[in-house]
Amino acid sequence: MQNVVLITGGSRGIGAATARLLGQRNYTVIINYKQNHQAAQSVANSIITSGGKAYVVQTDITDEQAVVTMFDKIKADIGMVTHLVNNAGVLSTQTRVEHMSAERINKMLTHNVTPYFICAREAIKHMRLSANPSQCAIVNVSSAASYLGGANEYVDYAAAKGAIDSFTKGLSLELAAEQIRVNGVRPGCIYTDIHADGGEPQRVDRLASALPLKRGGTAEEVANAIAWLLSNEASFTTGGFIDLAGGK
Ligand code: NAP
Repeated sequence: MQNVVLITGGSRGIGAATARLLGQRNYTVIINYKQNHQAAQSVANSIITSGGKAYVVQTDITDEQAVVTMFDKIKADIGMVTHLVNNAGVLSTQTRVEHMSAERINKMLTHNVTPYFICAREAIKHMRLSANPSQCAIVNVSSAASYLGGANEYVDYAAAKGAIDSFTKGLSLELAAEQIRVNGVRPGCIYTDIHADGGEPQRVDRLASALPLKRGGTAEEVANAIAWLLSNEASFTTGGFIDLAGGK
């Protein structure tokens, strides 16, 4: 069976590290991105240069019709998606709940929750049409914020990630009889660009010494867990989570 993995937000950070790793492991890698074509193409080029297969696809995953079109195009041009990494996510600037508008809270849900559902919905259709649905898997990138709460920074984002944990559990049970596995990873403080979106590019350095492991994590460390959960080595694991949060 050809393993075809779609990674939303595969152009930077955790998604890019996952794309590079899976590119070395015999997956055809589809790198989704929203606006930074150069970053996405650079990840694809590094995979291709190392002998792997990679494609880039620009789609804003908050646009339901665009997501449907993306999956149709993948089916026509490459084949069925057999593995999905729901990864693309956004932060808003740090603030307390008492200062949050409905617009901001809704943005956290429409950007971090709904697209995971829609991408999974479309991926499941592909998986059922693939050569071996029981070898297919989904990994949802949640966050340690889902259980830590994000107090004084972004409780709205944390709550959105809490929704992803519930989604992961529920979807895993809906698909278990078909042997399609659904798991989650919950990264903590990882060195990526997302913290600049939260208004504090150096956030990981500020918090690192307070973590039990006394350091921030890397995107590659998260990618290793995602790759394991996608693989047959994790064949008896569904509805589970791997926390990559330095002991928090
Ligand atoms: P990042 O470095 O900021 O990268 C975000 C990626 O998502 C980029 O490839 C971006 O593409 C893409 N993206 C954003 N909105 C999109 C949209 N609407 N449609 C398609 N692509 C979109 O983020 P990251 O830190 O790697 O985070 C990845 C995931 O890990 C997120 O779900 C995040 O919540 C979670 N996470 C991160 C940390 C951490 O400390 N870094 C901790 C816990 C959880 P463009 O560049 O083209 O916009």
